[in-house]
Amino acid sequence: MFNAQNIRKDFPILSRKVNGKPLVYFDNAATSQTPQQVIDAIVDYYSNYNANIHRGVHTLSQEATDLYEQARQKIQTHFGAKFSHEIILTSGTTHSINLVANGFSSLLKKGDEIIVSALEHHSNIVPWQMLCERTGAILKVIPMNEEGELVMPVFDDLLSENTKLVFVNHISNALGTINPIEYIIEKAHQVGAAVLIDGAQACPHIKPDVQALDVDFYVASAHKMCGPTGVGMLYGKEAWLNKLPPYQGGGEMIAEVTFEKTTYADLPHKFEAGTPNIAGGIVFGAAIDYMNSIGFDTIATYENELLNYATEKLLAIEGLKIYGTSKNKTSLISFNLESIHPYDVGTILDKLGIAVRTGHHCAQPIMDFYCIPGTVRASFSFYNTKEEIDALVEGVKKAKMMLS
Ligand code: PMP
Repeated sequence: MFNAQNIRKDFPILSRKVNGKPLVYFDNAATSQTPQQVIDAIVDYYSNYNANIHRGVHTLSQEATDLYEQARQKIQTHFGAKFSHEIILTSGTTHSINLVANGFSSLLKKGDEIIVSALEHHSNIVPWQMLCERTGAILKVIPMNEEGELVMPVFDDLLSENTKLVFVNHISNALGTINPIEYIIEKAHQVGAAVLIDGAQACPHIKPDVQALDVDFYVASAHKMCGPTGVGMLYGKEAWLNKLPPYQGGGEMIAEVTFEKTTYADLPHKFEAGTPNIAGGIVFGAAIDYMNSIGFDTIATYENELLNYATEKLLAIEGLKIYGTSKNKTSLISFNLESIHPYDVGTILDKLGIAVRTGHHCAQPIMDFYCIPGTVRASFSFYNTKEEIDALVEGVKKAKMMLS
């Protein structure tokens, strides 16, 4: 039986105080907190195995290499990839997207079309705009509606034989909407387009199966799922990864180098130039183990309970509006108090020890759609509690009183 109070004991940071009050951490969509098991894995690596990988004959190097490659296999199993060499370890979602966008520079021509969605994080917009500038390809956008859902009939109309790529996030970081990616993948494939799904916000809540989805690329960051910052993954179908040219040149990614010609290493090393974040990669594996030890079904059920509880309590506050009201959403609430700037609400909540995110959440087009400068975003994780939501609700009421 899931017990959040027991789970909280795994997270040392949750017992600290902020501004003299117990920390209430509701900024999980920005980064998740780190359990002791993952902290221990970092300490264990630096205490016992620290060495450069893939090139040493000495024992430490081989042990570190084994741990790193075991982590890659864990990531492969978790995301359902067919081969471990389809998993490229990167510095995070942003790096993964840029790697793919850069690779497509040589595969696109003027007039080709790329489709993104109105619900994207800037990191799933800007690299494609840069790609369009380099290649002359055209960027098209699936619009959103008032509920914060994608308007799928327009997506159907946007698709054509000119569509080469489609990029959509699995879950919106600003509104929490879960997008219909199965439909998007199927439809895009019917016109021969490749699909990249940005799973940065999905990976803390859902265990995706890239083979069942038949997705071409799937990207995520470890720090959103109880792992460390500075490490993430790119899943790519083997055939696509073989087709794309390397992103960065350097050590580790070569087969042979002469001044006349360099040949590249096989997957996954072709895309992993230089010394990687070795500890980060290994500990990404530990974070996946931790999340799976709780179980994604358990996580989803509990977080949904928190979402419903918080939605009801927050909506009872007069003048509070929630943005993103899809029935299909994860445990995240973006809201504003009438005539009050989100930054001011966030500042008062911080004084009460409550960490929320305020602003445009790197998704300015969504804010433009609603004609607002930003929102207050409270994002819940499995280690949060209803008592913490009560504290948030009281804090918002207090902010309203002080700022009205
Ligand atoms: N996409 C989405 C949907 C995100 O929420 C984030 C992180 N806020 C990113 C991409 C970028 O992730 P990272 O900063 O870890 O590269």
